[in-house]
Amino acid sequence: MTKKFLPYGRQSIEQDDIDAVVEALKGDYLTTGPKVAEFEAVLSAKTGAEYSVVCNSGTAALHLAAIAAGFGPGDCIIVPTITFLASANAMAFTGAEVCFADCDPETGLMRPKDLMSAIQRIKTAGRKPRGVIAVHFSGQTCDMPAIHAIARKEGMIIIEDACHALGSRHGPNLEAQTGDCHWSDMACFSFHPVKTIAMGEGGAVTTNDPKIDERLRLARNHGMSRDQENFTSKEAGLDISGDWGLWYYEMQDPGYNYRACDLQCALGISQLGKLEKFATKRRALRDRYYNFASELPSGVRLIGRAAECDPCAHLMTALFDDDFLGLGRNAVMSSLREMGIGTQVHYTPVHLQPYYRRMCPDLALEGASEFYRKCLTLPLFSDMELSDVDRVIAALRKVAAKGTER
Ligand SMILES: *Cc1c(COP(=O)(O)O)cnc(C)c1O
Repeated sequence: MTKKFLPYGRQSIEQDDIDAVVEALKGDYLTTGPKVAEFEAVLSAKTGAEYSVVCNSGTAALHLAAIAAGFGPGDCIIVPTITFLASANAMAFTGAEVCFADCDPETGLMRPKDLMSAIQRIKTAGRKPRGVIAVHFSGQTCDMPAIHAIARKEGMIIIEDACHALGSRHGPNLEAQTGDCHWSDMACFSFHPVKTIAMGEGGAVTTNDPKIDERLRLARNHGMSRDQENFTSKEAGLDISGDWGLWYYEMQDPGYNYRACDLQCALGISQLGKLEKFATKRRALRDRYYNFASELPSGVRLIGRAAECDPCAHLMTALFDDDFLGLGRNAVMSSLREMGIGTQVHYTPVHLQPYYRRMCPDLALEGASEFYRKCLTLPLFSDMELSDVDRVIAALRKVAAKGTER
């Protein structure tokens, strides 16, 4: 009875990944070295974006995107409430106000109509929406053509939180891939170990706009520029010869240290090389869940499938009826854990977190509340076997049977 424990998600690390990191450790640079630019080139090639800026977490990527967008005090940024804390926090870091949007109770995705009602709410308060974060929950993508049309009409900046969706395709003919910014200004990724590829900690922003790329790079590295063309302070920077100092760098606006190091990028390059393999496996596991969905006990179903999207699934979230056989969600989670199956709730609506609740005490988002009441994420990760899916489904049936006995 010692079957391997199945967490809801985990990394897949092989010997060649380990070798790549060891090799980088022996190199001349531990931090910004050749692996950084190499990782960025590979990510651009994989996503189809013109520019990729790697950084040290998905949270840093979202913050860099908010800075590059110019968000700041007085701006209202729309963020769906079913997401990880960081999607909202990274906007708040800039002093902007986070305005939460509802989601589809079947998919957890912000719908165009949810965006429209958030815009309406902001306008009713006499404000103007400045930007929107489209969160591709579970690896399924938001309806980007529609979100793009709505947001652009309002002159808003569009940032995709694609932390769940590396490798997903979408659009009316599945012509876009996440990260190519087909219907957005920027897309943000996380390479945290539970995500599709792992860097330990890591993230990136992709864009097709050279000015945005430049702002991202500055903010990633203290705001330090070595571009003589843009130097302004002769007082500080001139050599006695009248030339700009060879030592000199200039800062117009303070930035951060959000750099990813060569070790992380070496791991990231090795992992990105396996993206197709990981994506194929994740798609097969997701298909297995849906193909055997009729075997799920009554009261449990998988989240709805988004239209015009071929997801590289990050999460396999299921929806449990209100009183799944009279058991609470805790009882379901504990019973599954006893059978070696890890689960998690993705997500507690962010607008209900005390920090945000203080700013919007009366905001009610019905779709998100319903989704939160029902959701529980089941295991899905690249190293899982297809037969593990059957094990999860069988365990859910056991939990259901146990519930009926009582
Ligand atoms: C993981 C995640 C983040 C943050 O990424 P980190 O790399 O953990 O900082 C942001 N948004 C979403 C939707 C995520 O899943």
